[in-house]
Amino acid sequence: MTDAMKNLKQRLVLVVEDEDDIGRLIAYHLGKEGYSVLRAGSGPEALDYAYEHHPDLVILDIMLPEMDGLEVCRRLRSSERTASTPILILSARKEELDRVLGLELGADDYMIKPFSVRELMARVKAMLRRVEHFKATADSDSRSEEKVLRAGPITLYPERHQVMVDERACNLTHKEFVLLQLLMSNPGKVLTRELLLDRVWGYEVEVDTRTVDVHIRYLRQKVEPDPAHPRYIETVRGVGYRFSGKTEP
Ligand code: CA
Repeated sequence: MTDAMKNLKQRLVLVVEDEDDIGRLIAYHLGKEGYSVLRAGSGPEALDYAYEHHPDLVILDIMLPEMDGLEVCRRLRSSERTASTPILILSARKEELDRVLGLELGADDYMIKPFSVRELMARVKAMLRRVEHFKATADSDSRSEEKVLRAGPITLYPERHQVMVDERACNLTHKEFVLLQLLMSNPGKVLTRELLLDRVWGYEVEVDTRTVDVHIRYLRQKVEPDPAHPRYIETVRGVGYRFSGKTEP
């Protein structure tokens, strides 16, 4: 067994779904992939498990008894212990997703029900891989000097995984953080949607490049002084995005 596989074995996924057959199906496939699985059937139970067991990833259905998934997501994000835990939302309704992925709730990914289990597994793997990659990068960064990136009011601390705008801490999702870090690390360069998709989402399943636009929109709302007239994260029509403004190392 390789080290990477051993690592994978230790990953704990919390599956929050009250529909027993769906929960069981997801748990079965996660188990088959080598993950440890915890299952919760209600919002309060999900929060208890998440705070107690610190899962590496949460798969969260929106329609739940007692407390819905949106509220669970909000609470996970606002607790220090679970603020950066990757969350993948399951939803039967597309309309909910803007809120879910957005400013308010900041989930990392979503799937519309009914979904393909194979694709769900691909996304879980990809999300955990990104977290691993990020941890590895953060570790090697912290061994050297922290490479803080600054541009105007925006300051990005790679090691702390934190972004400040005018001394105010921004609550970015993992993806938004990686997006911003990519953009700020390449000031003045046009980064295509495809490149961003590949570097931030990085998996082979079909993801619309519109996903990039949606995340850029939320990112702007969090870091741009005037989100309607972005000054730092510029759109390059038909191509992608460019970070304008001088990034000072
Ligand atoms: Ca449900």
